[in-house]
Amino acid sequence: MKSHSCAKLPELMVLGSLARAALCLGLAWASTAAWAQDAPATGPADSKIAAALKQISAARIQATIEKLVSFQTRSTLSAQDPAAIASGRGIGAAREWIKSEFERYSRDCGGCLEVKTDGFTQAPADRIPKPTEITNVYAVLKGTDAESAKRIVLVTGHYDSRNSDNLNVTDAAPGANDDGSGTAVSLECARVLSKLKFPATIIFLTVAGEEQGLNGSKHFAEMAKSAGWNIEAVLNNDIVGGDRSSQQDPTVVRVFSEGVPVAATDADLRLIRNLGGESDSISRELARYIAEAGRTYETGVKPMLIFRLDRYLRGGDHYSFNQQGYAAVRFTEFREDYNHQHQNVRTENGVEFGDLPKFVNFDYVANVARLNAATLASLASAPAPPAMVHLLTKELQNDSTLTWEASPGGPATSYEVLWRATMSPDWEHAQSVGNVTRATLPKSKDNVIFAVRAVDGQGHRSLPVVPLPER
Ligand SMILES: [Zn+2]
Repeated sequence: MKSHSCAKLPELMVLGSLARAALCLGLAWASTAAWAQDAPATGPADSKIAAALKQISAARIQATIEKLVSFQTRSTLSAQDPAAIASGRGIGAAREWIKSEFERYSRDCGGCLEVKTDGFTQAPADRIPKPTEITNVYAVLKGTDAESAKRIVLVTGHYDSRNSDNLNVTDAAPGANDDGSGTAVSLECARVLSKLKFPATIIFLTVAGEEQGLNGSKHFAEMAKSAGWNIEAVLNNDIVGGDRSSQQDPTVVRVFSEGVPVAATDADLRLIRNLGGESDSISRELARYIAEAGRTYETGVKPMLIFRLDRYLRGGDHYSFNQQGYAAVRFTEFREDYNHQHQNVRTENGVEFGDLPKFVNFDYVANVARLNAATLASLASAPAPPAMVHLLTKELQNDSTLTWEASPGGPATSYEVLWRATMSPDWEHAQSVGNVTRATLPKSKDNVIFAVRAVDGQGHRSLPVVPLPER
């Protein structure tokens, strides 16, 4: 094999790092050239979505984060009585302000947002010494199409904060990055996307209790599951402030997704083991969708997919949704500065500690908000994913036949079959097969992983669905 210029290869094809490394090393990789020619184009950008992304404002995000910090502490255990709320101190005051912001955005769009709270009394637990009121605040932008409106995409961040002592409720816990940044992403997406209309529903959520043990998100996800909500995607933003350390890469945001689902049944696990499905959880398909949104729209930041639930020693609210069987991922800045998280505000030996606004890169948070908004808007504009997607495995054949049921709700005008080599991290090929519910491709199912997605007349793509084998 001739040696390639490694620099040019990524421009030519959507290849995984393993394959790229193999090429750069001059290793033979069967029929690479032929595969490169039909590498999938990304979907066309929707001009309305592209225009909305330009409305996302670093200045608005800065104002939001500074306001959140002004409550001095947003510890879930801090005061939330009327006097504390009136004095503008503690989590109760933060909650009321977030609610008033959502209500303000709603007034600006003719009442298009339904602003709601999900409150409950958390019983004493590990980091909750006494019964504590926890309140999630959220705004619903209901879909315009009766059938599609049952489909929900959701963005979330946690508005509670902490300092060095997780039980301290009096000293400053500014939480500018953790997670004022994620809360600001949720609010800014609400402000900008509420000016558009989408067939599916978008929920803009902010939760409390994260630092005490994911209590708020757990309650919300369980409530959604028991109410039968069809949440297609959860985007959890936690520590997306782009801390201004010298080793930060402000062009990259990490996107964490679970591989083998925590909610998998024993039967699911048997299938995953037999078919090599370790990297095709619904959360991972969502992560790949985010990667595609990042290629389609100018956001200023590139998603770096991390194939792992979360960072070492850490957890986050997306896990609460994973536990209920929902697709959920976590966005986090490229490099965290641990002096600026979960720390009392202080200076020691010339080193500054504390989660202060001055360490946050507001332009970076705005870019992460753009990537979130591009993903939410794309999904909320797209048809539902095809249902009952199957790969026929009745006989030993070198062709592969896929069947599915039409995307419910009507707007799909065609379907695409995606595939990739089993060793590749992202989809490599997309083939439109028209407005059908069955397709046969001259490729062996033994060698690739397939998926099917629905496409509407404007080119909006649904999440892809990996087929189940059917005998
Ligand atoms: Zn956090």
